[in-house]
Amino acid sequence: MCGIVGYIGDKPSLPILINGLKKLEYRGYDSAGCAIVSGNERMEVYKAKGKVSNLEEKTQNDDACGTLGIAHTRWATHGIPSEINAHPHVSQSGNIAIVHNGIIENYAVLKEQLEKKGYTFKSETDTEVLAQLIEYAATEGNGDLVSGVRRALKLCIGAYAIAVVDRRNPDLLIAARKASPLAIGIGENNEEFFLASDASPIAEYTRKIVYLNDEELALIERGKELRIENLHTGSVDYEIKEVDLDLSMLDKGGFPHFMLKEIFDQPTVLKDCMRGRILEKDGKYRVVLSAVEQHKDILVNAKRFTIVSCGTSWHAGLIGKQLIEHFCKIHTEVAYASEYRYNDTVIEPGDVVMAISQSGETADTLAAIEMAKEKGATIFGIVNSVGSSIARQTDTGTYIHIGPEIGVASTKAFTGQVTVLTMLALALGKARGTVDEQEYNEVLRELTLIPEKIQTILQQNDKIKDIARIFTYAHNCLYLGRGWNYPVALEGALKMKEISYIHAEGYPAAEMKHGPIALIDDEMPVVFIATHHQLYQKIISNMQEVLSRRGRIFAIVTEGDEQVRKMCAEVMEVPATLACLAPLLSVIPLQLLSYHVAVAKQLNVDQPRNLAKSVTVE
Ligand code: GLU
Repeated sequence: MCGIVGYIGDKPSLPILINGLKKLEYRGYDSAGCAIVSGNERMEVYKAKGKVSNLEEKTQNDDACGTLGIAHTRWATHGIPSEINAHPHVSQSGNIAIVHNGIIENYAVLKEQLEKKGYTFKSETDTEVLAQLIEYAATEGNGDLVSGVRRALKLCIGAYAIAVVDRRNPDLLIAARKASPLAIGIGENNEEFFLASDASPIAEYTRKIVYLNDEELALIERGKELRIENLHTGSVDYEIKEVDLDLSMLDKGGFPHFMLKEIFDQPTVLKDCMRGRILEKDGKYRVVLSAVEQHKDILVNAKRFTIVSCGTSWHAGLIGKQLIEHFCKIHTEVAYASEYRYNDTVIEPGDVVMAISQSGETADTLAAIEMAKEKGATIFGIVNSVGSSIARQTDTGTYIHIGPEIGVASTKAFTGQVTVLTMLALALGKARGTVDEQEYNEVLRELTLIPEKIQTILQQNDKIKDIARIFTYAHNCLYLGRGWNYPVALEGALKMKEISYIHAEGYPAAEMKHGPIALIDDEMPVVFIATHHQLYQKIISNMQEVLSRRGRIFAIVTEGDEQVRKMCAEVMEVPATLACLAPLLSVIPLQLLSYHVAVAKQLNVDQPRNLAKSVTVE
């Protein structure tokens, strides 16, 4: 994963790099480092284990004033998080420094070959191999760094986004990518350039961004026009995009953590997600999605939808399946992208493959859609990051428009994805004539009320905080739901695992009898999602089964529900809504619950151990 930042211009690079790394820290926080080139063949390299703040502290009293620099915040793939394994990695001669996001899969073979040529290695990383390989290839090519990078990259198998500097040349920054993202910001009159893994560290300096494509190499030279070449075919034209990023979204806005801010953002951002898409006139609602308008024929006649995604987006996909099958009557499958890409998947004409990804950079999802595209499927993207790799690879799609999500545990992206899936299913159902007119109107009207209803759930924050204390002692918990709420049980359990480090399992409630019931005792909290919808009575029977085994039940219930309350240690209420929209409400207390458990356990909510926000490695 990792975050990369680079700068070349007329200002000292160090503060810009540190500032940029802080914005990318969600991508990894095992270590941080930077290399500053300052003329007279000087290059200072700083590294610190752990957070960017450690690096900041280390560099505070130094007078590195070079105006060219590269920096990195790491999510380790090869080698433990340590100062030695931290990037930048410097070549044997000390001349070349690189930062890298991705995995060089054939690094062991390359390393062996380089060792035979006399190269030695300090770290355990694949990245150091690439640094030495670049030096070797440059030396072989009469010392020319650009051709060295070109030749080295052609020998690499795997994924990379890299930034390269040479202490002997303070006027050149080289960047290249394959399957890992990189954006280049262009300052006024080419006086300065910014490089980063996404646009967030760049947007405060310039809105003019170029996204590198796979196997492209950028030559960023002081005061000159940006040049981009394809590794194999040479010079290419590029498009400069104007990014529109709300910078206030990039800070915590008075909340102690990004995750809490993002949970509380949901009423506002879901309105943004629906804005201009759901239209009302005289009580009649209509949903207009440009993707459906522009690709109506393909989508209306789709034989099958396959949703590919990972993690939380996969849970949104499970709800998407129910929505599409309910409103559009199209057979829909949901696949883990990491499995789908390697399966002997049969893809036939008329298949639509839908990729769901918050970051739009998820490596497995990207590979899955590339494979499906080659086999002739139409690719539809549901993505948050505008201009991301997945957004660019798809034939069409709908952005969720919920603003940057920084907290590693996804919250507002989930509800944004479910909102888009609901609008999509309704728009398509309408176009196919498979949705009942009255239901269409009713669901759309109710969908516009969801942000207000989320607001009322958020008012229970203090109560949920109290309930959370009980969970801090648990080692295991079970989350059970049925029908529309079954994916919410999975999502609730995932949230608990990822930030609270409590083992949690989500199950369809009736499936409990086939195994998990053996785990129930008076110490294990069992969370039921028992809103007043289809299967309500059945879920009450499942709760009786848990009570008979002395289980302690915590439940998400519809406001005013007395029947379930009597069976529970505690309940968390959500306003009444339609069954198909229930997940948008029932997930909110579960997000808050996991948040408060993690805070009570004094864990790092926004940067849980071992995780990173966007999974750009396989
Ligand atoms: N493979 C490199 C390392 O372990 C970069 C990791 C990444 O991009 O996540 O340092």
